[in-house]
Amino acid sequence: MTSFTPETALIKMTPYGLYCPQGRFYIDPVRGPIERAVITHGHADHARNVAETYFTTFGSSPILQKRLSNDISLHTVSYGEPFTLGETTVSLHPAGHILGSAQVRVEHQGEVWVVTGDFKRDHDPTCQPFEVVPCDTLISEATFALPIYRWPPAGQVARDILAWWDENIELHQVSVLFCYALGKAQRVLAELKKLTDRRVFLHGAILPIVDIYREAGIPMVPAEKIDLQNKRDYAGEMILAPPGALGSPWMRRFKGAQTGFCSGWMRVRGNRRRRGYDRGFVLSDHADWPSLLQTFEDSRASRIQLHHGYSDILVRYLGEQGVDAISLGSPFADLESG
Ligand SMILES: [Zn+2]
Ligand SMILES: [Zn+2]
Repeated sequence: MTSFTPETALIKMTPYGLYCPQGRFYIDPVRGPIERAVITHGHADHARNVAETYFTTFGSSPILQKRLSNDISLHTVSYGEPFTLGETTVSLHPAGHILGSAQVRVEHQGEVWVVTGDFKRDHDPTCQPFEVVPCDTLISEATFALPIYRWPPAGQVARDILAWWDENIELHQVSVLFCYALGKAQRVLAELKKLTDRRVFLHGAILPIVDIYREAGIPMVPAEKIDLQNKRDYAGEMILAPPGALGSPWMRRFKGAQTGFCSGWMRVRGNRRRRGYDRGFVLSDHADWPSLLQTFEDSRASRIQLHHGYSDILVRYLGEQGVDAISLGSPFADLESG
């Protein structure tokens, strides 16, 4: 391991996002135009239409093509398959966040840096489990880096969702469950699949991504797009919709519906009330506090750099434990996952 100065950093934060000078590429660039981008996953704040050429995993590529364009110049690699960029060797490794999500491993003259991207350690039937990638410096997200954030098992949350649906059937009411369109919605459908074969209805924004997941062979309960022209009664049905649909004209069709929200943010009770949901289900696609700490230890990194979320609080905590940690700041907020 070489000694570290900002000049020799393998990856640094720039106004365009994380940049590797030795490899001349950005990771999840936030603005452009830039030449080469390595994309960790398809969420909107990570995959933007700003690069000439993209490098990503097989799992992410249909998501990028759907969300950016079919015409982007895309190099697709398997997990663990090394490729050369500039003077560096790069490989992508499972992050356990959503389908195709990857950590980026960058090696240069024997020094290894890893960027986790968004990640989680909890089981998720829709994507490959997080892989521990040993490194010298780990750049990690810190979206939920407060000790209060600890996740219950997803199977338990799925049973709670099903029980809530059953209660609403008894009441002859519609259940509208809000969840992010990419990743969370498919995880809910896949967790429900272990408990039931009941059909779920989908908001139009969710259906195309469910199709991509089905294409990738992810088992999920049957699902059907809501037809707003159809005057049928949806009483007793479960509908998945993106959070933006709450309070939109789309919701008028489901007046009096019971509403729920699936997110790590629901761990804090005030968030549910403030956002106006009847029920909150704690289901996150990010690492909780214990898994962040576990991951730093597992990586055996001698240096931790944080961005996204509560970086500063985690930096202070790690400093108190004698860990070399800094916050990189973040040029963007997490808009699409939680
Ligand atoms: Zn994400
Ligand atoms: Zn993110």
